Amino acid sequence: MEKFVYSFNEGSKDMRSLLGGKGANLAEMTKIGLPVPFGFTVTTEACNKYYDENCTIADSIVAEIYEKLAELENVTGKKFGDVSNPLLVSVRSGAAFSMPGMMDTILNLGLNDNTVEGLAKLTENERFAYDSYRRFIQMFGDVVMEISKSKFDAIFDACKEKNGCKYDVELTTENLKEIIVGYKKLVKEEMGRDFPQEPKDQLMEAVKAVFRSWNNERAILYRQLNDIPGSLGTAVNVQSMVFGNMGNTSGTGVAFTRNPANGENKVFGEFLVNAQGEDVVAGIRTPQPIAEMASAFPEVYTKFTEIAEILEKHYTDMQDMEFTVERGKLFMLQTRNGKRTAAAAVKIAVDMVEEGLIDKKTAITRIEPAQIDQLLHPTFESESLSKAAKIAKGLPASPGAACGMIYFNASDAEKAVAEGKKAVLVRQETSPEDLAGMVAAEGILTARGGMTSHAAVVARGMGKCCVAGCAEISVSEENKTLVVGDKTYKEGDYISLDGTTGTVYEGQIKTVAPELSGDFGTIMKWADEIRTLKVRTNADNPRDAKQAVLFGAEGIGLCRTEHMFFEEERIPAVRRMIMADSEAERREALAALLPYQKSDFKGIYEAMGDRPVTIRLLDPPLHEFIPHTDEEMKVLAKQINVPFEKLQAKGAELHEFNPMLGHRGCRLAVTYPEIAEMQAEAIIRAAIELKKEKNMDIVPEIMIPLVGSKKELAFVKKVVVETIEKCFEKEGIKFDYLVGTMIEVPRAALTADEIAEEAEFFSFGTNDLTQMTLGFSRDDTGKIIKEYKRLGIFEEDPFQSLDQVGVGKLVKMAVELGKATRPNIKLGICGEHGGDPKTIEFCHRVGLNYVSCSPFRVPIARLAAAQAAIKDGKN
Ligand code: PEP
Ligand code: MG
Repeated sequence: MEKFVYSFNEGSKDMRSLLGGKGANLAEMTKIGLPVPFGFTVTTEACNKYYDENCTIADSIVAEIYEKLAELENVTGKKFGDVSNPLLVSVRSGAAFSMPGMMDTILNLGLNDNTVEGLAKLTENERFAYDSYRRFIQMFGDVVMEISKSKFDAIFDACKEKNGCKYDVELTTENLKEIIVGYKKLVKEEMGRDFPQEPKDQLMEAVKAVFRSWNNERAILYRQLNDIPGSLGTAVNVQSMVFGNMGNTSGTGVAFTRNPANGENKVFGEFLVNAQGEDVVAGIRTPQPIAEMASAFPEVYTKFTEIAEILEKHYTDMQDMEFTVERGKLFMLQTRNGKRTAAAAVKIAVDMVEEGLIDKKTAITRIEPAQIDQLLHPTFESESLSKAAKIAKGLPASPGAACGMIYFNASDAEKAVAEGKKAVLVRQETSPEDLAGMVAAEGILTARGGMTSHAAVVARGMGKCCVAGCAEISVSEENKTLVVGDKTYKEGDYISLDGTTGTVYEGQIKTVAPELSGDFGTIMKWADEIRTLKVRTNADNPRDAKQAVLFGAEGIGLCRTEHMFFEEERIPAVRRMIMADSEAERREALAALLPYQKSDFKGIYEAMGDRPVTIRLLDPPLHEFIPHTDEEMKVLAKQINVPFEKLQAKGAELHEFNPMLGHRGCRLAVTYPEIAEMQAEAIIRAAIELKKEKNMDIVPEIMIPLVGSKKELAFVKKVVVETIEKCFEKEGIKFDYLVGTMIEVPRAALTADEIAEEAEFFSFGTNDLTQMTLGFSRDDTGKIIKEYKRLGIFEEDPFQSLDQVGVGKLVKMAVELGKATRPNIKLGICGEHGGDPKTIEFCHRVGLNYVSCSPFRVPIARLAAAQAAIKDGKN
């Protein structure tokens, strides 16, 4: 018979997909003999079955749950609903991947009007028992019954006020009993039924609530953001309760085996005396640093650090642990590989290799390529920073620099960003509902919460700058004000955040590029030793080219020459060329452009040294270079001394209904070969001059875009080759050069064997190839794609990560056909996908020679290429 429920002593860490991450690790800790309160896990398959069977839990699974419950009663010696010795459990969700958007925890399940008395007697603490009961009703009411939390808060606050209590701890047992009566009345009003008194009913309702939470909006959004398939399901962990709130010999905490912000090899975390676990994570009370536990509970602290070491060695990775101390006894409630900043990830990986814990390849796989981005982004420029006014200091929750306008709620921040503004989200504290606003914002500032609060954990995961627990500020989300001392900041005011130091500044601060040495350099060196795929960059000017070389680019895979055409000095000549009435006039305008293009290319060749440079001939439709509105045309007509009517007529002549499929790419060179001639001459003359001036040996790679047939390519290639040969003859010099093509029209991929007869290299232009294969406009379909992702029609945006099944099939086919004709053909990719780690793995697999991406993605690509090689196992 299929098994849907596992006791903690039946599982292991390798059963993650079935038991969820939390369940698998609780089982593993139980297996290696660590102190874990006993319990059981209802599997992810049970969750999927629940959905398959119309949101019901099959009788056989209910029976299995009861069977495991009986075992739990045996092991603990306690009984569900037993007044003298009640079993109380926590119920927690736990998917294979940690998902903060899902239902988290219900504590104290099993309490009712009778067992609360039992708990009071057992603990000799009536107040504690009633406080636990009221917490349970509140949590169950909120999470399982979905009654608004604010309604419970209103009852609680009214009781405090009536009894003149400032702090929760001042409430007496009688007050708490009164609150419980109020809570139960609320449940009856809202649900039309009493609060369930039977613990088994409570348990089954809670299990269902966890299953339901798999598909709540926040969970779905989180999955979309993190590419987690909706088909995985969540497990449910039922665990006997231990209490961290049983007085001053009890407590609870969360800790990492190393510092998750900077990677320092020292236990790092926070704990709270006399508190329940959720108080720490929710950031409701500000906890103490873990080191202070050494004086509060010296023996427990020693034991805890021993366990931390055991766990780190066992998992050979930095662990993120939750624990509770009940009357001086330590219990482990969770362990998992800890989330960390990119800086910490790099340091931990390098340190662990040096400590002999892992090898270099493992170190490489430990770093999330996309996370590297954090290390490459700017910090504040010191001069601008020295002039900035510090206004407050909070916790350095997630590093980086952010600057933007203040917004006090997620939707306002989202709206502002959609309008093109930069936002900093300022909140009292964040909760999972704020996720979309956090994604949109440049940075996050919270007044409350510690280093493990929601804001801190989520921001670190996203690599977003965050200052948390900034107690010096007071935030009114209602009035939309941020008050520091006697100063009030309003929505739309600028602030700047330094997530590395926790400092908050007034106004805007300039930023600078980061350094790339130390541990980062070490990891990159190891990655370079391992990878077989080369990494080039897309760059159109010497500045970007130099930046890319600093980031380790091994060449230029795409130089879009049109970007040079837009520069201020060149655009008049470009426009004259477009306005030309005859070939002679056009040639004259092109002759004026030639020196500019030549010096641009020289600059780029020099920046790249002996690295290869692929230059693409003009690609976009010509109308992109002239304005579209009458007003702008009038201004331009004056500037270039052409009658407005003539300009207008030219605009109309160049107008296309579908310019993406119109007069662009090699079609420009076919209809106006003189454009290709000028560009080929500039490309080759730049190389000739550098050969003569600096003895540089440049092998230009000339790329012809938007080719769909061999004849088209042959036509333009002839123009290019003849121009170059003429230059060689004139200058009495000769050297190698390559002429190749982009594969970005599906027909080119389908006939790649024929095209390879002319092309000496292929570069996959996957932006256009995706557009034309999917029939989705690359510029107009953002909203549709978002909706497709939400509905699960697309797992990912095909313009960001290659559609390997469809477009990938064309790429693979073109690689095979191209190689069949020309075995040594050079193969690369230069669409946006070239910087996407999943696509890079695909490119490695299908045998491309290089990927080319924007300069800031070069290190990401180097790491991703190394990971692809490791996964492939051939080196
Ligand atoms: C492409 O189409 O993938 C490409 C790199 O060219 P562009 O984006 O300039 O059209
Ligand atoms: Mg293209």
